[in-house]
Amino acid sequence: MIIDLRSDTVTKPTQPMLEAMFSAEVGDDVFAEEPTVIKLQQKAAALFGKEAGLFCPSGTMTNQIAIKVHTQPGDELLCDTTAHIYNYEGGGISFNSGVQAKLLPGERGRITAKQVRESINPGFDWLTKTSLVCIENTANRAGGSYYSMEQMQELYAVCKENNLKYHLDGARIFNAIEENDYTPADIGKIFNSISVCLSKGLGAPVGSVLLGDKEFVAKARRVRKVFGGGMRQAGYLAAAGIYALDNNIVRLKDDHKRAKTLAEVMRNLPFIENVLPVDTNIIIFNLNDNLKPEDFVKRLATHNIKATGFGKQAIRFVTHLDFTDEMLDKTIEVLNKL
Ligand SMILES: *Cc1c(COP(=O)(O)O)cnc(C)c1O
Repeated sequence: MIIDLRSDTVTKPTQPMLEAMFSAEVGDDVFAEEPTVIKLQQKAAALFGKEAGLFCPSGTMTNQIAIKVHTQPGDELLCDTTAHIYNYEGGGISFNSGVQAKLLPGERGRITAKQVRESINPGFDWLTKTSLVCIENTANRAGGSYYSMEQMQELYAVCKENNLKYHLDGARIFNAIEENDYTPADIGKIFNSISVCLSKGLGAPVGSVLLGDKEFVAKARRVRKVFGGGMRQAGYLAAAGIYALDNNIVRLKDDHKRAKTLAEVMRNLPFIENVLPVDTNIIIFNLNDNLKPEDFVKRLATHNIKATGFGKQAIRFVTHLDFTDEMLDKTIEVLNKL
């Protein structure tokens, strides 16, 4: 038994998901005649109450397309210091869109309406034009924290007042939804665009969808082609996404429960300095100074547990569809003996 806590992207398709993929009806999506891709896009869009959707190979691509469509070169976007779009997308904001990011120090990855209001540049010729606000829900680098509806709405109000576009990096939006009383439709109402990953907690092997109004998605489709993301018989992959939306949302709660159980145990371990609050499926913790992260990871590996460092003394564990109760017990046992 191999226990992989590196990421929720490590899940492999289950037999029924594979069967759904195997029996997918397919066509050429560049000619816009891929029945299963069209079905997935419509399904995801309907769920969030958006007009249209676009299936893409990755969440990096959906985010980067959204930034490209919402901005002009020389513009500025606002996001949290820990944002995925800024830290983990290869410098794509500048590379793809010629845009710069103004980083706001949020609270556990969450920026506020006040911070945004104070960061918008006045319209002088010599200042960068602020045109876009991007938030992440749940916030990855910050440890899976989520926004409340009120916080997201306050940000929306500032964006609207100041003519800024509002993008949601919803790689793990369903993890947030399962812990809150807001629905996908509530979220769809306030964002100009939403990126949703199917290949994280939802357990699909590949893909993300980008949602927005028809005009936005038409532009996004062009950019996707330019970025090299125009796929052909992608219905085999989209079928996995449809299966994931139908079957793997509600169970995310189980991942959260396991993460919380694990975190509780870890708080009492002598070699762990501290564990960040655990709100969803991500546990970030710091090792004591006398234990090197490489050594800790190596020791876990001898027990068939995979983990990776997350900078300095930090390690990140992520629970997911392929992390069972049996694996949870084994992980606790190993940690207690380490
Ligand atoms: C994983 C992730 C993405 C997209 O990553 P890909 O690996 O490109 O699919 C985007 N945002 C956040 C917050 C993520 O965790």
